[in-house]
Amino acid sequence: MRHGRATQYQQRKLEAAFAKADREAALRKQDGRCKYCLVRLTYKNVTRDHVIARATGGLDHRNNIVAACERCNKAKGMMSVKLFMRLITFPRPGEDIRYRMIWFDLRINRALMEMEKNVFKAVGIKS
Ligand SMILES: [Zn+2]
Repeated sequence: MRHGRATQYQQRKLEAAFAKADREAALRKQDGRCKYCLVRLTYKNVTRDHVIARATGGLDHRNNIVAACERCNKAKGMMSVKLFMRLITFPRPGEDIRYRMIWFDLRINRALMEMEKNVFKAVGIKS
C-alpha cells in the first residue's frame, strides 16, 4: 500500500531526527567526549550508546543514551556499563585486546585533559 509505505518512511525520518537530537544533546552534555574513552567527538562521528542495551530491555529514551565513539559502542555491545568500565579500566591478561586498547587511549586522553587544564590555568594567571 502506497499510503502505508509513505507513513513508514515518515516515521523512520522522524525517528532518525530524534536519534540525531539525542546523540547531539548527549555529546554537548559530555563536553564533546566519548563517555568511555574520553576521545573528542564531533556531530559527524558521534554514536548513540544505549546504557542498558536495547537487546537486554533498555529503552530508546534520552535517559538511556550516552554519546560514545564507534569503537567503544561496538566493544561494549550488550554488556552492562559496570562490566564494560571494569574491562577498560582494569583490563586483565587474556581478555580481548580491544579493551586494552581503549584503556590505553583512556589514559592518554585523561593525561591530555589534565595538561590542557594546567595550560588554561597558567594562561588564566597571566591575564
Ligand atoms: Zn570511546
